Amino acid sequence: MANPGRIFSEVIKHLFKEPATSAYPFAPAKPMKDFRGRIDFDSPKCIGCQMCVRVCPAKAIEIKLSAEQPPAPAPVEGQPAAPAKRKFDCFMYLGRCVFCWQCADTCPKDALVKTQDFELASTDRNALLRHYK
Ligand code: SF4
Ligand code: SF4
Repeated sequence: MANPGRIFSEVIKHLFKEPATSAYPFAPAKPMKDFRGRIDFDSPKCIGCQMCVRVCPAKAIEIKLSAEQPPAPAPVEGQPAAPAKRKFDCFMYLGRCVFCWQCADTCPKDALVKTQDFELASTDRNALLRHYK
């Protein structure tokens, strides 16, 4: 037979315990400390080396020259003309990405930024292709 004292103590214990579930999506979700989310792109840091593209196991990232390039710096008298810095865009195929962060860990310029953004679901297939400039 059940012990009423034990049942009562269990009820009291659970009354003051944090809930095991969260109220998401009605309240913001808090990802775990090491949760791996979407990768962001910091364009001015990118040198177009393509290392991220080579290591991606899912072929989810492309780095291309931007359509608009910054002008060459003004020439300084007595010095050879400095080459214009090339600008790159990043295309991220979120439908293929497995969020391994291998690209960001490999980037020598920290141009790929790790985020905990996970709210990426969409009914529009085109929304799964992000174009970062
Ligand atoms: S997180 Fe992984 S799968 Fe996603 S783009 Fe980077 S390397 Fe590719
Ligand atoms: S994001 Fe980083 S690894 Fe990828 S092309 Fe740019 S500099 Fe190279």
